[in-house]
Amino acid sequence: MIKDIFHTNKTNRLIRVAFTMLATMCAIHSTQAQQTKHVNPWTAKELGKLPPIASLTDGVWLKGDLHVHSSHSTDGVNPGPERHPVKTIIAFAKSVDFGFIGITDHDNHVLGDVEHHTWADPDFKSDSVLLLYGAEWTTTRGHGNTFSAKPYDHQKFYDVRDQRDANIIAVKKELGIHVSANHPAGPKDHFGFSYDLVDAMEVWNSALWTKNANSILIWEDMLASGRRVTGRGGSDTHSPSELNYIGTPTTWVFAAKRTSQGVVDALLNGRVSVSANPFAPRVEFFADLNEDGKMDMMMGDNAKSTGKPIKFRVELKGNIKTDSTYTVNVIKDGRNFGSFKMSGSKPVIEFIDTPKLIERMYYRLTVEGPPTNYPQVPRSAAITGNMVALSNPIYFNFDPEF
Ligand SMILES: [Zn+2]
Ligand SMILES: [Zn+2]
Repeated sequence: MIKDIFHTNKTNRLIRVAFTMLATMCAIHSTQAQQTKHVNPWTAKELGKLPPIASLTDGVWLKGDLHVHSSHSTDGVNPGPERHPVKTIIAFAKSVDFGFIGITDHDNHVLGDVEHHTWADPDFKSDSVLLLYGAEWTTTRGHGNTFSAKPYDHQKFYDVRDQRDANIIAVKKELGIHVSANHPAGPKDHFGFSYDLVDAMEVWNSALWTKNANSILIWEDMLASGRRVTGRGGSDTHSPSELNYIGTPTTWVFAAKRTSQGVVDALLNGRVSVSANPFAPRVEFFADLNEDGKMDMMMGDNAKSTGKPIKFRVELKGNIKTDSTYTVNVIKDGRNFGSFKMSGSKPVIEFIDTPKLIERMYYRLTVEGPPTNYPQVPRSAAITGNMVALSNPIYFNFDPEF
């Protein structure tokens, strides 16, 4: 009897072990079945038809500075009406052939009321330089510049500054303004908001190029994430200086029309490059999609890749030092793709690559070479060093609905 019980228990145990093993195998099998059935809804897939690429020739290159403070900003040395009058800024912009300027005073100094300060300044007008309406949105979580072709209710944007990002984004949309992150990696005033809020970011702040390395890292992250955030420059000057002043650096835009709206549109579309100063060469970046020898897109533009090789073209325009060599560094998806030497009176290089068929990819450039003298800001070239220019990316397979 005892033996029988023992035998029965042993049998039960064996049956239990067998069942457990079977159940485990079934569970593994069903997990595998679930995995094979799982579809990640975010996986890259072929995009539908993309918007057509705008003309590469109908437009005008305009240069300017997108981060300038007048006396209406009351920080910095010698605050007061005579420190940096609007009149001085506009006259200077005209003297260096600027097509546009963004005077972006701190809005917190006037509690958001830039409309009755900078914009109401009797000298805030020009017959030759396009003026953008904007301000430096100055908040506890960082600074951003606003830009608009026409006046808007900036007070409303100032008032929402400490709210959740979603509320800020809603107000930004309602106002129809362009928002750009300033000195995004600044040690005391980095940009601490969602980048869903911005259309552009300041990837080159002031003549001191080397301090922008961390801002470039953030830009790469945002580009890799699928955001087509335009890179722009800004001197962030508050008063005349021999080191850093209006135009260090200079932002170039390819505007479809010579209007303030044309400038804001070009900024949004990324048809933008940045140069060390108003007299330094400008970089232009194109791609030929169908191997017909004719360029089809420029920086800022987005196309579906064809799976075939694409020819890229880099041109340096303006004040070229013909006795020198320039180096073009191509960055593909955040990594070094290659460096190319260019020289002569019309420096051009071409390179070929095959972007992947479906995944997002982007290519952008920096150009290094001899510094260009800027007599109005005589010590700026020395601190900028060999950094000549940078381009915005050429994009492939970026979802416009992202
Ligand atoms: Zn700032
Ligand atoms: Zn500033």
